[in-house]
Amino acid sequence: AAVFFVWDQDGETPATPPPGSDSAILPDALRVAAQDNRLCVHYQPQVRLTDGAVVGLEALARWRHPTLGNVAPDIFIPLAERTAQIGRLGVWILGRSLLDFASLGLPEPMRLAVNVSPLQLRDPGFADQVARCLDDAGQIPKRLELEITETTQLGDDPQVAHALKALEKLGVGLALDDFGTGYSNFAALTKFRFSCLKLDRTLVTGLDDERNQMLIRSMVGMAQNLEMDLLAEGIETEAQANILRDLGCELAQGYLFSPPLPFGEIRDWLDAR
Ligand code: C2E
Ligand code: CA
Ligand code: CA
Ligand code: CA
Repeated sequence: AAVFFVWDQDGETPATPPPGSDSAILPDALRVAAQDNRLCVHYQPQVRLTDGAVVGLEALARWRHPTLGNVAPDIFIPLAERTAQIGRLGVWILGRSLLDFASLGLPEPMRLAVNVSPLQLRDPGFADQVARCLDDAGQIPKRLELEITETTQLGDDPQVAHALKALEKLGVGLALDDFGTGYSNFAALTKFRFSCLKLDRTLVTGLDDERNQMLIRSMVGMAQNLEMDLLAEGIETEAQANILRDLGCELAQGYLFSPPLPFGEIRDWLDAR
């Protein structure tokens, strides 16, 4: 297994993996992982800052590898993208998390947020897959929000544009993830109807800075004008939560409220509230 992750670190993955290397069996590793319960989904609550009400859950994938231990999604998602496995992996995660969400029986308007790789959006069948997963779980589209990380392609890739339009038409919510991290995709905001803007954690860490606060205040205004929810990620302290609430940011997520939890634990956590 080490072989693959060494390549991973220099970011140079050979187009064709050498025979016998672990990357050659990765597609299978992912499939077996799903069957073996080695892949699972954890859930992190999203809350409203004014009253602490839970408004949703974000699904975050986890992989317990037999020899590597827990592999972080930051590693295995890009791996799945490079080895053309992200489509199948993504549908598995979507299906699994929708079934979990359905079995929690949470009242509207609570929703499930699921991360989607921009590569999944290039698949012309993606919106149909989403519709099928919703059907299988007996959920209506507005209970689901897909979180899409802003990248350069978002605005100008015609396949991605097509998928986003189809998802909009289906009626699922779209969140622009990691907003403020570099590719601030203002063009994408004008082309597609995002229901939620997720402020990246890096904006939250510098909150004592007055200019940072002004930046967030202006994002609050922008979100209001475009009729989007604004959710701040990575809230770890009461102080951060208080400042954000005072700035008018309505929603938040972070360790302060709860880390991502396995299904059984999030059920208990929700029950206890
Ligand atoms: P993300 O979507 O931006 O998710 C937020 C990350 O921040 C998660 O890391 C979460 O566990 C972590 N986090 C939450 N609250 C706090 C906090 O208060 N402080 C700090 N320091 N971190 C916090 P995680 O679960 O390791 O996921 C990393 C990234 O992997 C995600 O970033 C997302 O881009 C990707 N990812 C995870 N699951 C999936 C998935 O099912 N599909 C796809 N395509 N990507 C996924
Ligand atoms: Ca996310
Ligand atoms: Ca994020
Ligand atoms: Ca991220």
